[in-house]
This record gives sequence, structure tokens and C-alpha cells, in this order.
Amino acid sequence: MLLTTLQFLLPTILTLLQPSHGQPVNQTGQTQSVPYATILTHCTAPGTIALTFDDGPYTYTPALLDLLSEYGARSTFFVNGYRLTEYTDVLQRTFKEGHQVASHTYSHKHLLSLDYASIVNEMSSLETLFRNVLGVVPTYMRPPYLEVDQRVLGVMAELGYHVISASVDTKDYENNDPWLIDKSVRKFVDGVNAGGSIVLAHDTHAQTVFTLARAMLEEVTKRGLKATTVADCLGDPVESWYR
Ligand SMILES: [Zn+2]
Repeated sequence: MLLTTLQFLLPTILTLLQPSHGQPVNQTGQTQSVPYATILTHCTAPGTIALTFDDGPYTYTPALLDLLSEYGARSTFFVNGYRLTEYTDVLQRTFKEGHQVASHTYSHKHLLSLDYASIVNEMSSLETLFRNVLGVVPTYMRPPYLEVDQRVLGVMAELGYHVISASVDTKDYENNDPWLIDKSVRKFVDGVNAGGSIVLAHDTHAQTVFTLARAMLEEVTKRGLKATTVADCLGDPVESWYR
């Protein structure tokens, strides 16, 4: 029992002991500083899992918000700027319902192929939209195609963004078919069994919203995990999610 508890807590203890980020853990010990210039793939708060949805908002997103509400779950939505002319109200609803809204760049380009000014533009043009629609700018982003290198990491740190990747890839975009989506459910279960905790899916696919998401939430409930936002699962207090 003690050994199990120690194994459970060890990653958290090790994270807390790391001196590299130079930011103090707060007095309660409930929160911890989230590093910049690092690719983050796993939750650090014990018993949490982060279901994340990229590339929206889209026509299926409201149904996903209904589903998350049914399960009392919170998620992170990495949104694209070019979607926001049409789905401004959906973004506002997502934000109001306590989900985390984060940047997935304005137009979903391959960041590694862009020069410095173009990368900054991909981030800042979406920031303008966030400011207009929500009044805040996120401090979290996920690079399109999960493509990131030291140069892009450096730019994101300079712009004040934590960089989120994933440790469970549902590959839902390959299985957006009633006959195939079980493959993504399987990838989710296998990924969580392998220790994954930040889960990648897309609210732009019907089967993700209408089949995979419910299956994931059922599995999360069965395992007694808490489905929460990326920032929360990293121990980051809500006042740090935006600036
Ligand atoms: Zn994407």
C-alpha cells in the first residue's frame, strides 16, 4: 500500500523538487509552477486526466459542451483563429462554462516552416480575436500537427505561452466513421493504460463528439479519474490560464 502510494506520488514529488524553473510552489502546495520552453505531455496532479479538443470551434462543439456538462467534466479547447468569424458564440459559451480555451494558432500552418515574424503573426492575430471575444489572451498553446523544435519553443516562451503536446493520440481524424471509431476508443484505453494523461482529439469530427467523447468519459468515470483542463491537471491556478 505504502509502495503504491509512493509510486503514485513520486512524479509529483520529483516535479516539486526540480529547481530549474525558479518559481516557488505556493504555500498550500496545491499548485505548482508550469514551465515554459518545455513540451508538456503529462498531467502532474494525481488522479487527473485532460481530454483536449483541437481545430474548432465547429458545428459539433455545442453538442460536446452538453456532453461534458452531463458528466461534470472540463476540457481544454485548442482553437484556430480562422474558425472564429463563424463560431464566436460557441467560443464564448466554452469559456463561460469553465473549460480552458487555448491557442492552436490562427490558420493551422506548419510552424517549423515559418520564419520568426510569421510565427509571431500566427499567435498575435489570434490574440486579437481572443481579446475581442473573451477579453483575455490564453497562456497555453498547442502547435499544429504537434510540430515543435527549440526555435519554436523559444518563440512561444518569449510570447508567454506554455506548449502542450499529448501523451494519448486517439487518431480520431483517421476513424471518423461509425464503423471505425472504436479504433480510437481502443487507442484511448491503451494510451491511458500506458500512463498517458493528456489526450488529443478533435471537435471537428462528428464521430469524436457523438461516440468517442462519451466512451472516453465513461472510461474516465470507471477509473475514478477527474476529467479536467490541461492547466488544472498541471496544477496551474485558474488566474494563470489567461493574461
Ligand atoms: Zn490541429
